[in-house]
Amino acid sequence: MTTTALDPTAPLVFDTAELRGAGTTMHVAREIPAPEAYGLEAVYAVPKGAVLDIDVHLTGVSEGVLATGQVEAVAEGECARCLAPVQDALSVQVQELYAYEGSVTEATTEADEIMRLQGDLLDLEPAVRDALVLAMPVTPLCRPDCPGLCAECGVPWDELPDDHGHEVVDPRWAGLEKLRLADSDGESK
Ligand SMILES: [Zn+2]
Ligand SMILES: [Zn+2]
Repeated sequence: MTTTALDPTAPLVFDTAELRGAGTTMHVAREIPAPEAYGLEAVYAVPKGAVLDIDVHLTGVSEGVLATGQVEAVAEGECARCLAPVQDALSVQVQELYAYEGSVTEATTEADEIMRLQGDLLDLEPAVRDALVLAMPVTPLCRPDCPGLCAECGVPWDELPDDHGHEVVDPRWAGLEKLRLADSDGESK
C-alpha cells in the first residue's frame, strides 16, 4: 500500500515536532474551508468550501499524538420526504490516535485501525471527515414529522388542505374491466 506524502501547507496538516517527548499539548482553533464535500453532494453534505470550525488539542503521548476536540460545520441537503432544503449545524467530537512511524503501535496495528504520522506531520482531515459523516442522518428530514408529498400531485402536504384528495379510478377495477373485455372476445383461456 502506498501512501501519498502529506502536504505540510494543507490546512488540516499539522507539524507536531514540538510534541515529541510526550506530555506536551498544542491547541488548534481555526476556521478553514472544507477541502472537499463530506457526505453525499446534493443529497446531504457539508459542501466543499463550507466553514469547518476546528477546536482540537494535539497531545504528545509515548506512541504518537492524540487528537481530541470538536468540529462544527453546517450540512446542507434535501428533506427525503418533501425535498425541501435542509440545513443542520453539526457538532462532532474527534478523538484519534496517530502512531509514530516505528512505534510499537504502528508495528502491531493495521493502517486502517490506527492513523499514522508521517514524520511529524499529522493529517487531521480523515478524522474530521469521518466524524462529520458519521454524524449525518441516514434519512435527512426538514423536521421529524414531515408528512412528505401527496403521491398523486406531488404537492407538499404542508401546503394542502386537510381534506385534499384526488378522484381516481381504482386500478383494481380497471384491471377487472380489462379481464371482462378479454373474456367476451373469447381470447382468454
Ligand atoms: Zn420535509
Ligand atoms: Zn394531491
